[in-house]
Amino acid sequence: MSIKFLDRTEYTALSEAIPAPDVVVVGAGFAGSVVARELAQRSNKTVLVLEKRPHIGGNTYDHLDASGVLVHDYGPHIFHTESQRVFEYLSRFTEWRDYQHQVVANIHGRYIPVPFNLNSIELSFEQYKAQQMVEKLIDTYGEGSKVPIIELRNQADPLLTQLADYVYENVFLGYTKKQWGLTPEEVDPSVTARVPVLVARDNRYFQDTWQGMPLNGYTALFESLLDHENITVCTDLDACQILTFETGNQNAQSGEDEPFTAILFNDRPFEGEVIYTGPLDELCNNRFGLLPYRSLDFIFKTLPVKHVLPCGTVNYTVSEDYTRITEFTWLTGQELDVTTIMEEYPCSFEALAGQTPYYAIINDENHSHYQRYLALFSGLANFHVVGRLAEYRYYNMDHIVKRALELADELC
Ligand SMILES: Cc1cc2nc3c(=O)[nH]c(=O)nc-3n(C[C@H](O)[C@H](O)[C@H](O)COP(=O)(O)OP(=O)(O)OC[C@H]3O[C@@H](n4cnc5c(N)ncnc54)[C@H](O)[C@@H]3O)c2cc1C
Repeated sequence: MSIKFLDRTEYTALSEAIPAPDVVVVGAGFAGSVVARELAQRSNKTVLVLEKRPHIGGNTYDHLDASGVLVHDYGPHIFHTESQRVFEYLSRFTEWRDYQHQVVANIHGRYIPVPFNLNSIELSFEQYKAQQMVEKLIDTYGEGSKVPIIELRNQADPLLTQLADYVYENVFLGYTKKQWGLTPEEVDPSVTARVPVLVARDNRYFQDTWQGMPLNGYTALFESLLDHENITVCTDLDACQILTFETGNQNAQSGEDEPFTAILFNDRPFEGEVIYTGPLDELCNNRFGLLPYRSLDFIFKTLPVKHVLPCGTVNYTVSEDYTRITEFTWLTGQELDVTTIMEEYPCSFEALAGQTPYYAIINDENHSHYQRYLALFSGLANFHVVGRLAEYRYYNMDHIVKRALELADELC
Protein backbone atom coordinates (compact mmCIF):
# COMPACT_ATOMS: atom_id res chain seq x y z
CA MET A 1 0.00 0.00 0.00
CA SER A 2 1.08 3.64 -0.24
CA ILE A 3 -0.09 6.86 1.39
CA LYS A 4 -3.19 8.46 -0.02
CA PHE A 5 -1.90 11.89 -1.09
CA LEU A 6 -3.95 14.78 -2.41
CA ASP A 7 -2.42 17.99 -3.62
CA ARG A 8 -4.15 21.33 -3.16
CA THR A 9 -5.96 21.23 -6.54
CA GLU A 10 -7.25 17.70 -5.99
CA TYR A 11 -8.35 18.62 -2.51
CA THR A 12 -10.26 21.70 -3.73
CA ALA A 13 -11.95 19.62 -6.42
CA LEU A 14 -12.90 16.86 -4.01
CA SER A 15 -13.68 18.75 -0.82
CA GLU A 16 -17.24 19.53 -1.91
CA ALA A 17 -17.96 15.94 -2.85
CA ILE A 18 -16.25 13.80 -0.18
CA PRO A 19 -17.82 13.44 3.28
CA ALA A 20 -16.12 15.32 6.09
CA PRO A 21 -13.54 13.13 7.87
CA ASP A 22 -14.00 12.00 11.48
CA VAL A 23 -10.75 13.69 12.44
CA VAL A 24 -8.75 16.60 11.01
CA VAL A 25 -5.05 16.66 11.88
CA VAL A 26 -3.07 19.80 11.13
CA GLY A 27 0.63 19.14 10.53
CA ALA A 28 2.42 16.00 9.33
CA GLY A 29 5.34 16.09 11.79
CA PHE A 30 5.70 13.56 14.59
CA ALA A 31 2.91 15.08 16.71
CA GLY A 32 0.26 15.02 13.97
CA SER A 33 1.33 11.82 12.22
CA VAL A 34 1.41 9.69 15.37
CA VAL A 35 -2.06 10.84 16.49
CA ALA A 36 -3.37 10.35 12.93
CA ARG A 37 -2.05 6.79 12.78
CA GLU A 38 -3.40 5.87 16.19
CA LEU A 39 -6.90 7.24 15.60
CA ALA A 40 -7.04 5.65 12.14
CA GLN A 41 -5.89 2.26 13.34
CA ARG A 42 -7.17 1.91 16.89
CA SER A 43 -10.48 3.79 16.56
CA ASN A 44 -11.12 3.12 12.87
CA LYS A 45 -11.63 6.87 12.30
CA THR A 46 -11.20 8.49 8.90
CA VAL A 47 -8.41 11.03 9.25
CA LEU A 48 -7.51 13.95 7.00
CA VAL A 49 -3.98 15.27 7.57
CA LEU A 50 -3.40 18.82 6.32
CA GLU A 51 0.22 19.89 5.80
CA LYS A 52 1.21 23.28 4.48
CA ARG A 53 4.65 22.20 3.31
CA PRO A 54 5.03 20.18 0.11
CA HIS A 55 6.18 17.14 2.12
CA ILE A 56 5.49 15.07 5.24
CA GLY A 57 7.83 14.62 8.23
CA GLY A 58 7.71 18.12 9.72
CA ASN A 59 11.11 19.38 10.78
CA THR A 60 12.63 15.91 10.55
CA TYR A 61 12.11 15.74 6.77
CA ASP A 62 15.15 14.40 4.91
CA HIS A 63 15.93 13.80 1.25
CA LEU A 64 18.82 12.76 -1.01
CA ASP A 65 20.69 15.82 -2.29
CA ALA A 66 22.19 16.08 -5.78
CA SER A 67 25.28 14.13 -4.61
CA GLY A 68 23.26 11.32 -3.06
CA VAL A 69 23.81 12.40 0.55
CA LEU A 70 20.74 12.05 2.78
CA VAL A 71 20.40 15.54 4.26
CA HIS A 72 18.04 16.97 6.89
CA ASP A 73 16.48 20.14 5.49
CA TYR A 74 15.52 21.65 8.85
CA GLY A 75 18.55 20.83 10.97
CA PRO A 76 20.23 17.58 11.99
CA HIS A 77 17.98 15.14 13.89
CA ILE A 78 19.39 12.28 15.94
CA PHE A 79 16.97 9.92 17.62
CA HIS A 80 17.52 9.07 21.30
CA THR A 81 15.17 8.01 24.06
CA GLU A 82 14.76 6.47 27.47
CA SER A 83 11.19 5.46 26.62
CA GLN A 84 10.81 1.81 25.67
CA ARG A 85 7.26 2.52 24.50
CA VAL A 86 8.43 5.20 22.06
CA PHE A 87 11.31 3.09 20.75
CA GLU A 88 9.11 0.03 20.21
CA TYR A 89 6.36 2.12 18.67
CA LEU A 90 8.65 3.75 16.08
CA SER A 91 10.34 0.40 15.42
CA ARG A 92 7.05 -0.70 13.83
CA PHE A 93 7.72 1.82 11.06
CA THR A 94 11.50 1.71 10.63
CA GLU A 95 14.59 -0.34 11.19
CA TRP A 96 17.49 1.45 12.86
CA ARG A 97 21.09 2.22 12.07
CA ASP A 98 23.10 1.93 15.28
CA TYR A 99 24.55 5.42 15.64
CA GLN A 100 25.89 7.15 18.76
CA HIS A 101 26.20 10.87 18.04
CA GLN A 102 29.39 12.69 19.04
CA VAL A 103 29.91 16.44 19.19
CA VAL A 104 33.14 18.38 19.75
CA ALA A 105 33.64 22.08 20.38
CA ASN A 106 36.22 23.86 18.27
CA ILE A 107 37.96 25.89 20.98
CA HIS A 108 40.70 27.99 19.38
CA GLY A 109 41.40 25.22 16.86
CA ARG A 110 41.33 22.28 19.29
CA TYR A 111 38.52 19.71 19.33
CA ILE A 112 37.09 19.17 22.83
CA PRO A 113 34.23 16.69 23.54
CA VAL A 114 30.81 18.19 24.30
CA PRO A 115 29.05 17.79 26.71
CA PHE A 116 32.20 18.89 28.51
CA ASN A 117 33.30 15.76 30.39
CA LEU A 118 36.27 14.30 32.25
CA ASN A 119 38.12 13.70 28.96
CA SER A 120 37.47 17.34 28.02
CA ILE A 121 39.04 18.50 31.29
CA GLU A 122 42.19 16.50 30.55
CA LEU A 123 42.41 17.99 27.06
CA SER A 124 41.96 21.55 28.38
CA PHE A 125 44.14 21.76 31.53
CA GLU A 126 47.65 20.65 32.42
CA GLN A 127 47.84 17.14 33.84
CA TYR A 128 48.09 17.82 37.59
CA LYS A 129 45.35 20.43 37.65
CA ALA A 130 43.10 18.28 35.46
CA GLN A 131 43.52 15.34 37.83
CA GLN A 132 42.55 17.51 40.81
CA MET A 133 39.51 18.85 38.99
CA VAL A 134 38.36 15.36 38.01
CA GLU A 135 38.68 14.14 41.63
CA LYS A 136 36.88 17.20 43.00
CA LEU A 137 34.04 16.87 40.50
CA ILE A 138 33.54 13.18 41.29
CA ASP A 139 33.69 13.83 45.08
CA THR A 140 31.21 16.71 44.83
CA TYR A 141 28.65 15.35 42.38
CA GLY A 142 29.33 11.63 42.00
CA GLU A 143 30.53 9.76 38.92
CA GLY A 144 27.99 9.75 36.07
CA SER A 145 26.12 12.87 37.22
CA LYS A 146 25.13 15.73 34.93
CA VAL A 147 25.71 19.22 36.30
CA PRO A 148 24.09 22.28 34.69
CA ILE A 149 26.69 25.00 34.06
CA ILE A 150 24.64 27.53 36.07
CA GLU A 151 24.85 25.19 39.09
CA LEU A 152 28.59 24.61 38.64
CA ARG A 153 29.13 28.36 38.54
CA ASN A 154 27.52 28.68 41.98
CA GLN A 155 30.25 26.50 43.54
CA ALA A 156 32.47 28.27 46.08
CA ASP A 157 35.39 25.84 45.72
CA PRO A 158 38.26 27.68 43.91
CA LEU A 159 39.20 24.72 41.71
CA LEU A 160 35.61 24.13 40.60
CA THR A 161 35.17 27.87 40.09
CA GLN A 162 38.16 27.87 37.76
CA LEU A 163 36.68 24.92 35.86
CA ALA A 164 33.23 26.52 35.72
CA ASP A 165 34.65 29.80 34.43
CA TYR A 166 36.59 28.00 31.71
CA VAL A 167 33.60 25.96 30.55
CA TYR A 168 31.29 28.98 30.77
CA GLU A 169 33.60 31.19 28.70
CA ASN A 170 34.66 28.60 26.13
CA VAL A 171 31.64 26.36 25.69
CA PHE A 172 28.52 28.30 26.69
CA LEU A 173 28.90 32.07 26.46
CA GLY A 174 29.65 32.63 22.77
CA TYR A 175 27.42 29.78 21.63
CA THR A 176 24.41 30.93 23.69
CA LYS A 177 24.85 34.53 22.51
CA LYS A 178 24.84 33.38 18.90
CA GLN A 179 21.98 30.93 19.37
CA TRP A 180 19.66 33.12 21.45
CA GLY A 181 21.07 36.62 21.24
CA LEU A 182 21.26 36.38 25.06
CA THR A 183 23.77 35.36 27.74
CA PRO A 184 23.39 32.00 29.54
CA GLU A 185 21.93 33.82 32.58
CA GLU A 186 19.27 35.46 30.43
CA VAL A 187 17.90 32.26 28.87
CA ASP A 188 15.58 29.91 30.73
CA PRO A 189 17.66 27.51 32.94
CA SER A 190 16.08 24.53 31.13
CA VAL A 191 17.92 25.64 27.97
CA THR A 192 21.48 25.55 29.33
CA ALA A 193 20.64 22.41 31.34
CA ARG A 194 20.11 20.56 28.03
CA VAL A 195 23.91 20.41 27.65
CA PRO A 196 25.27 19.83 31.18
CA VAL A 197 28.82 19.16 32.35
CA LEU A 198 29.12 15.37 32.40
CA VAL A 199 31.03 13.74 35.27
CA ALA A 200 32.04 10.73 33.16
CA ARG A 201 34.37 9.67 30.36
CA ASP A 202 31.52 9.12 27.92
CA ASN A 203 32.15 11.14 24.75
CA ARG A 204 28.67 10.51 23.33
CA TYR A 205 26.37 13.53 23.06
CA PHE A 206 23.41 11.55 24.44
CA GLN A 207 23.46 8.89 27.13
CA ASP A 208 20.00 7.42 26.42
CA THR A 209 19.42 3.66 26.28
CA TRP A 210 18.06 3.73 22.73
CA GLN A 211 19.87 5.82 20.12
CA GLY A 212 20.11 5.65 16.36
CA MET A 213 18.99 6.85 12.98
CA PRO A 214 16.05 5.50 10.98
CA LEU A 215 17.77 3.12 8.55
CA ASN A 216 16.20 4.63 5.42
CA GLY A 217 15.73 8.11 6.86
CA TYR A 218 12.90 10.01 8.57
CA THR A 219 10.82 10.61 5.44
CA ALA A 220 10.68 6.85 4.84
CA LEU A 221 9.62 6.38 8.47
CA PHE A 222 6.77 8.87 7.96
CA GLU A 223 5.73 7.22 4.71
CA SER A 224 5.21 4.02 6.66
CA LEU A 225 3.58 5.78 9.66
CA LEU A 226 0.98 7.53 7.50
CA ASP A 227 0.34 4.55 5.25
CA HIS A 228 -3.12 3.48 6.44
CA GLU A 229 -6.37 3.05 4.54
CA ASN A 230 -8.19 5.50 6.84
CA ILE A 231 -5.63 8.31 6.38
CA THR A 232 -5.58 10.87 3.58
CA VAL A 233 -2.70 13.35 3.51
CA CYS A 234 -3.08 16.68 1.80
CA THR A 235 0.19 18.58 1.35
CA ASP A 236 0.71 22.19 0.27
CA LEU A 237 -2.46 23.18 2.08
CA ASP A 238 -2.50 25.69 4.91
CA ALA A 239 -5.17 24.68 7.43
CA CYS A 240 -5.76 28.36 8.27
CA GLN A 241 -7.54 28.56 4.90
CA ILE A 242 -10.16 25.96 5.79
CA LEU A 243 -10.36 25.85 9.60
CA THR A 244 -12.09 28.85 11.12
CA PHE A 245 -13.66 29.56 14.47
CA GLU A 246 -16.83 31.23 15.71
CA THR A 247 -17.61 32.92 18.99
CA GLY A 248 -21.05 33.00 20.61
CA ASN A 249 -20.97 36.80 20.51
CA GLN A 250 -21.53 37.81 16.88
CA ASN A 251 -20.35 41.34 17.66
CA ALA A 252 -16.99 40.26 19.08
CA GLN A 253 -14.04 42.04 17.47
CA SER A 254 -11.11 40.03 16.12
CA GLY A 255 -8.71 41.54 18.68
CA GLU A 256 -10.69 40.33 21.66
CA ASP A 257 -10.32 37.53 24.19
CA GLU A 258 -13.82 36.12 23.61
CA PRO A 259 -13.34 32.30 23.54
CA PHE A 260 -14.39 30.38 20.43
CA THR A 261 -17.54 28.31 20.64
CA ALA A 262 -17.51 26.40 17.33
CA ILE A 263 -15.12 25.06 14.69
CA LEU A 264 -15.91 25.55 11.02
CA PHE A 265 -14.32 23.22 8.49
CA ASN A 266 -14.75 24.46 4.91
CA ASP A 267 -17.27 26.97 6.34
CA ARG A 268 -19.44 24.21 7.83
CA PRO A 269 -19.73 23.34 11.54
CA PHE A 270 -17.34 20.52 12.40
CA GLU A 271 -18.06 18.24 15.36
CA GLY A 272 -15.20 15.76 14.82
CA GLU A 273 -11.85 15.94 16.59
CA VAL A 274 -9.29 18.52 15.42
CA ILE A 275 -5.66 17.83 16.32
CA TYR A 276 -3.70 21.01 15.80
CA THR A 277 0.13 20.95 15.75
CA GLY A 278 0.83 24.35 14.15
CA PRO A 279 1.32 27.74 15.83
CA LEU A 280 -1.73 29.16 17.63
CA ASP A 281 -0.91 32.79 16.83
CA GLU A 282 -1.04 32.05 13.10
CA LEU A 283 -4.40 30.29 13.46
CA CYS A 284 -5.78 33.44 15.12
CA ASN A 285 -4.38 35.85 12.50
CA ASN A 286 -1.79 36.97 15.08
CA ARG A 287 -4.49 38.95 16.86
CA PHE A 288 -2.36 39.39 19.98
CA GLY A 289 0.91 39.74 18.03
CA LEU A 290 3.52 37.17 16.96
CA LEU A 291 4.79 34.67 19.53
CA PRO A 292 8.59 35.19 19.71
CA TYR A 293 10.86 32.51 18.25
CA ARG A 294 14.47 32.06 17.19
CA SER A 295 14.97 30.90 13.65
CA LEU A 296 17.90 29.43 11.73
CA ASP A 297 19.44 29.89 8.29
CA PHE A 298 21.17 26.82 6.90
CA ILE A 299 23.99 26.72 4.36
CA PHE A 300 24.69 23.35 2.73
CA LYS A 301 28.04 22.59 1.11
CA THR A 302 29.04 19.46 -0.78
CA LEU A 303 32.76 18.68 -0.88
CA PRO A 304 34.71 16.11 -2.91
CA VAL A 305 36.14 14.25 0.11
CA LYS A 306 34.98 11.39 2.31
CA HIS A 307 34.85 13.39 5.58
CA VAL A 308 35.73 16.92 6.64
CA LEU A 309 34.76 16.78 10.31
CA PRO A 310 36.14 14.44 12.99
CA CYS A 311 32.59 13.42 14.02
CA GLY A 312 28.92 14.22 13.34
CA THR A 313 28.88 17.79 14.64
CA VAL A 314 31.41 20.49 15.52
CA ASN A 315 30.17 23.38 17.70
CA TYR A 316 31.90 26.73 17.14
CA THR A 317 31.81 28.09 20.66
CA VAL A 318 34.43 30.85 20.49
CA SER A 319 34.64 31.78 16.80
CA GLU A 320 32.64 32.02 13.53
CA ASP A 321 29.15 33.39 12.96
CA TYR A 322 27.57 29.97 12.67
CA THR A 323 26.92 27.92 15.81
CA ARG A 324 27.71 24.49 14.44
CA ILE A 325 28.48 22.38 11.39
CA THR A 326 27.02 18.92 10.91
CA GLU A 327 28.33 16.37 8.43
CA PHE A 328 25.45 14.13 7.39
CA THR A 329 27.44 11.11 6.23
CA TRP A 330 28.52 10.50 9.84
CA LEU A 331 24.83 10.28 10.78
CA THR A 332 23.73 8.13 7.86
CA GLY A 333 26.85 5.95 7.54
CA GLN A 334 26.82 6.45 3.76
CA GLU A 335 30.10 5.46 2.13
CA LEU A 336 30.54 8.03 -0.66
CA ASP A 337 33.41 9.91 -2.27
CA VAL A 338 31.66 13.18 -1.45
CA THR A 339 30.25 14.63 1.73
CA THR A 340 27.64 17.28 2.56
CA ILE A 341 27.88 19.61 5.53
CA MET A 342 25.40 22.12 6.95
CA GLU A 343 26.28 25.38 8.72
CA GLU A 344 23.67 26.81 11.11
CA TYR A 345 23.22 30.58 11.49
CA PRO A 346 20.73 31.59 14.19
CA CYS A 347 18.55 34.67 13.69
CA SER A 348 15.38 36.18 15.07
CA PHE A 349 12.06 34.99 13.64
CA GLU A 350 10.13 37.71 11.86
CA ALA A 351 7.55 35.57 10.01
CA LEU A 352 9.22 36.39 6.68
CA ALA A 353 8.34 34.19 3.70
CA GLY A 354 10.27 30.93 3.94
CA GLN A 355 11.34 31.53 7.53
CA THR A 356 10.65 28.76 10.07
CA PRO A 357 9.94 29.33 13.78
CA TYR A 358 12.39 26.84 15.34
CA TYR A 359 12.87 27.56 19.04
CA ALA A 360 10.20 29.06 21.30
CA ILE A 361 11.81 31.71 23.53
CA ILE A 362 10.81 30.53 26.98
CA ASN A 363 10.19 33.23 29.60
CA ASP A 364 7.25 34.35 31.77
CA GLU A 365 6.13 37.11 29.42
CA ASN A 366 6.05 34.83 26.37
CA HIS A 367 4.31 32.12 28.38
CA SER A 368 1.50 34.55 29.29
CA HIS A 369 1.32 35.67 25.67
CA TYR A 370 0.88 32.03 24.59
CA GLN A 371 -1.69 31.35 27.34
CA ARG A 372 -3.78 34.24 26.03
CA TYR A 373 -4.00 32.50 22.66
CA LEU A 374 -4.66 29.13 24.23
CA ALA A 375 -7.54 30.53 26.29
CA LEU A 376 -9.41 31.32 23.07
CA PHE A 377 -9.76 27.57 22.50
CA SER A 378 -10.69 26.61 26.07
CA GLY A 379 -14.39 26.11 25.26
CA LEU A 380 -13.76 23.68 22.38
CA ALA A 381 -13.77 20.11 23.72
CA ASN A 382 -12.97 18.71 20.26
CA PHE A 383 -9.90 20.92 19.62
CA HIS A 384 -6.58 19.51 20.85
CA VAL A 385 -3.18 21.16 20.73
CA VAL A 386 -0.05 19.02 20.64
CA GLY A 387 3.48 19.62 19.39
CA ARG A 388 6.37 22.02 19.68
CA LEU A 389 4.55 24.84 17.86
CA ALA A 390 1.03 24.36 19.22
CA GLU A 391 2.32 24.09 22.80
CA TYR A 392 4.98 26.77 22.32
CA ARG A 393 7.77 24.74 23.93
CA TYR A 394 10.79 22.61 23.05
CA TYR A 395 10.28 18.87 22.63
CA ASN A 396 12.78 16.26 21.58
CA MET A 397 11.36 13.86 19.03
CA ASP A 398 10.85 11.06 21.55
CA HIS A 399 9.04 13.40 23.95
CA ILE A 400 6.62 14.53 21.28
CA VAL A 401 5.97 10.95 20.15
CA LYS A 402 5.22 10.03 23.78
CA ARG A 403 2.95 13.03 24.18
CA ALA A 404 1.12 12.20 20.92
CA LEU A 405 0.65 8.57 22.00
CA GLU A 406 -0.80 9.75 25.31
CA LEU A 407 -3.23 12.09 23.55
CA ALA A 408 -4.25 9.22 21.27
CA ASP A 409 -4.77 6.98 24.35
CA GLU A 410 -7.19 9.60 25.73
CA LEU A 411 -9.07 10.01 22.45
CA CYS A 412 -9.26 6.29 21.70
C1 LIG B 1 17.49 22.52 14.56
C2 LIG B 1 16.78 21.47 15.34
C3 LIG B 1 17.39 20.24 15.58
C4 LIG B 1 16.73 19.27 16.32
N1 LIG B 1 17.39 18.09 16.55
C5 LIG B 1 16.78 17.15 17.29
C6 LIG B 1 17.46 15.92 17.59
O1 LIG B 1 18.62 15.72 17.19
N2 LIG B 1 16.82 15.00 18.34
C7 LIG B 1 15.54 15.19 18.80
O2 LIG B 1 15.00 14.30 19.48
N3 LIG B 1 14.87 16.35 18.53
C8 LIG B 1 15.44 17.31 17.79
N4 LIG B 1 14.77 18.48 17.50
C9 LIG B 1 13.36 18.61 17.92
C10 LIG B 1 12.38 18.07 16.84
O3 LIG B 1 12.52 18.85 15.67
C11 LIG B 1 10.94 18.18 17.38
O4 LIG B 1 10.81 17.34 18.50
C12 LIG B 1 9.88 17.72 16.38
O5 LIG B 1 10.04 18.31 15.12
C13 LIG B 1 8.50 18.08 16.91
O6 LIG B 1 7.50 17.56 16.05
P1 LIG B 1 6.16 18.39 15.81
O7 LIG B 1 5.26 17.50 15.04
O8 LIG B 1 5.67 18.94 17.10
O9 LIG B 1 6.59 19.66 14.96
P2 LIG B 1 7.09 19.84 13.39
O10 LIG B 1 8.03 18.73 13.10
O11 LIG B 1 7.50 21.21 13.28
O12 LIG B 1 5.72 19.55 12.62
C14 LIG B 1 4.67 20.50 12.56
C15 LIG B 1 4.13 20.51 11.14
O13 LIG B 1 2.92 21.30 11.11
C16 LIG B 1 2.90 21.98 9.88
N5 LIG B 1 1.99 23.12 10.01
C17 LIG B 1 2.12 24.19 10.82
N6 LIG B 1 1.08 25.06 10.65
C18 LIG B 1 0.29 24.51 9.71
C19 LIG B 1 -0.92 24.92 9.08
N7 LIG B 1 -1.51 26.08 9.39
N8 LIG B 1 -1.47 24.12 8.14
C20 LIG B 1 -0.88 22.95 7.78
N9 LIG B 1 0.29 22.51 8.34
C21 LIG B 1 0.85 23.28 9.29
C22 LIG B 1 4.34 22.40 9.65
O14 LIG B 1 4.58 22.69 8.29
C23 LIG B 1 5.07 21.14 10.13
O15 LIG B 1 5.30 20.23 9.06
C24 LIG B 1 15.42 19.49 16.83
C25 LIG B 1 14.81 20.74 16.61
C26 LIG B 1 15.49 21.71 15.89
C27 LIG B 1 14.83 23.05 15.69
